[in-house]
This record gives sequence, structure tokens and C-alpha cells, in this order.
Amino acid sequence: MMIVVMRTRATMKEVAEVIKVIEKNGFKPHLSKGEEKTIIGVVGDERRLESARLEVLPGVEKVIPILRPFKLASREFRKDNTQIRVGDVTFGSQQVVLMAGPCAVETREQTLECAKRVKAAGARVLRGGAFKPRTSPYAFQGLGEEGLEILSEAREITGLPIVTEVMSPVDVPLVAKHADILQIGARNMQNFSLLEEVGRLSKPILLKRGMSSTLEELLMAAEYILSNGNYNVILCERGIRTFEPYTRNTLDITAVPVLRELTHLPVVVDPSHATGRRTLIPPVTLAAIAAGADGIIVEVHPHPEKALCDGPQALTPDDFKKLVSDIRLVAAAVGRRC
Ligand code: PEP
Ligand code: MN
Repeated sequence: MMIVVMRTRATMKEVAEVIKVIEKNGFKPHLSKGEEKTIIGVVGDERRLESARLEVLPGVEKVIPILRPFKLASREFRKDNTQIRVGDVTFGSQQVVLMAGPCAVETREQTLECAKRVKAAGARVLRGGAFKPRTSPYAFQGLGEEGLEILSEAREITGLPIVTEVMSPVDVPLVAKHADILQIGARNMQNFSLLEEVGRLSKPILLKRGMSSTLEELLMAAEYILSNGNYNVILCERGIRTFEPYTRNTLDITAVPVLRELTHLPVVVDPSHATGRRTLIPPVTLAAIAAGADGIIVEVHPHPEKALCDGPQALTPDDFKKLVSDIRLVAAAVGRRC
């Protein structure tokens, strides 16, 4: 892969001509209009591209190879942060986006109560799983389509956009019909046919880091989505497996600034799956925001003791409300708002 950097004053006609030559040679162009410069990513065999002699075309400043394995996700491809708008919030902006809701949609009442209460506390996006990836086949698997309908109703009532998981390529059209953001869970981070399928959508994708995946593997998974044409990918650090059993996972807080260096994509943190325990969520959330996270996705249940999934890590709506006021203080201290 290489990138064609256009001159600052390159005309639209010159850009169109470069794209034409790229396509004529059998490559896929990916256009990125930065604040100053237009950049065109060219994916394909570099030796074959040599012969296209792109650097001599009018308006071209230079042609440079991207050496990292991830290309479209890299900072080299796009210098400015990618901003992803969902409803009235923007990921990758100065805003820290708060997403909250139950682990799983269990009943209409539970979901609507939770939605209203997290909204009142300051959440801007409602989370909730209708398709649940459970370790045991005997555990509650989610309500499926009925769960999606309940989420749609919750959006109608509260105005909150919905983020919900899709586990299988065949369910992508159904989930996309209801969701504002489609979540790819940790267990599916390298389900390549699923990544390709959501890559053909234009809706934002929340891509969670696999529990034993490196950051490079996470970015390569994002690359699958981007290279299929969907540039709206939000990355999520949700804790990784280490030798430490005290917490459910180990939050890799360093992932936030590392990803900030490597990629232009927004980065959010899931403090719930990272810790597995309610009491640990507030300090870890504040640390994530101090480290520069663009958002938080946190589990909240109106009655955690009755939750069918992940009760021990669910905050009550009141806990969440208290956390939001602390988040506001930390966000302001690092020049962000929520
Ligand atoms: C979830 O968000 O409900 C979930 C299952 O998370 P993860 O894929 O990170 O385990
Ligand atoms: Mn969960």
C-alpha cells in the first residue's frame, strides 16, 4: 500500500484523474480529505503500482509507501482524528461520549427503566446485548430479534442511539436495521467474514479488542472493516487476559495513548469487562478518561442482583450518576467535556 499526497492546491479534476489511473491499474483508491491536504490510499501490489507512475501526474506532490501492516487505520494515512457522528454526539472530538446500559436486554421493563435512568444521569448512547456471546451454551443467550425491538423502543422513548452486538454475518442486516452502532465483541474480533460484512455497511462499528489480542491485531481487524469501505470504526479497549486472577481482565490503560499514536480512529474504554467488579469501575473509568479515551461503555442495571448476565460488574443507576459527576471533573481537567 502506498499513499498519494496531493499538492495543497490540487484541483478536483487532478484528484479525479489520479483516482482514474489507480482504478485503471486494478487498484482500490481510498480518499481522505484532510484539513490541508488530500491523500489517496492505494491498496495493492506495490511492484505493479510502480508502473502506474503516479508521481508524475499533475497535482501530485509525492507518493510514499506505508510500511506498517495496517494502512488505512494508520496515522500516516490520516493525520487528523477521525470523527464519527452518532445522533448528537461525535466520537473523536473534544467530547467524551458516555455509553451505558445493561449487559443484556432481559425484559422490556428492565431495558426501558435502565434507558430512562442512564439518560437522566448523562449517558448519550444506550448499550444492551440482544445476541449474547456466552461461554456456556446453557447460559442466557439474549432475546435476539425481540431484544432489538425493545432497544428500538427505548431509543424512541429516550432519543438515545443504540449500540448492540452482532455475532454472526447472517444477522448483520437485522442488527443494522435496529442499531445505530454495531458492536463486534472481543470473542469475534478476528471473525474475518463478520468484519467484511460490517465493512460493507456505512453505520459505525464498535470493535472490541480480543481478550488475547495485540494492538497490532486489533488494528488489522479494523483494517478489514476499513478496506471494505466502512471508515466509521471505534476501537474499544476492554481488558486483556494476564496472569492476574483478582480482576476479570487486566485493563491495558497504555492501549489508549498507544492507539492514539498509531491510528486516527477514536478509542473508547470498557471498564466493566476490564474489571468484572462494580467497586473497581469508577477509578478505572476516571483513569481511562485521564489517559485520553474518547468515550466509555459501561454496564448499568436497575437491579444488578437480578441480572441474567454480568450482575457483579453492573453499576446501579445511582452509582452511574455519581460516576458521571466525577467524569465531568476529570474530563474538564484534561480539556474535554461530556
Ligand atoms: C459486552 O459488551 O457485552 C461483551 C460481551 O463484551 P466483550 O465482547 O468485551 O467481552
Ligand atoms: Mn457484559
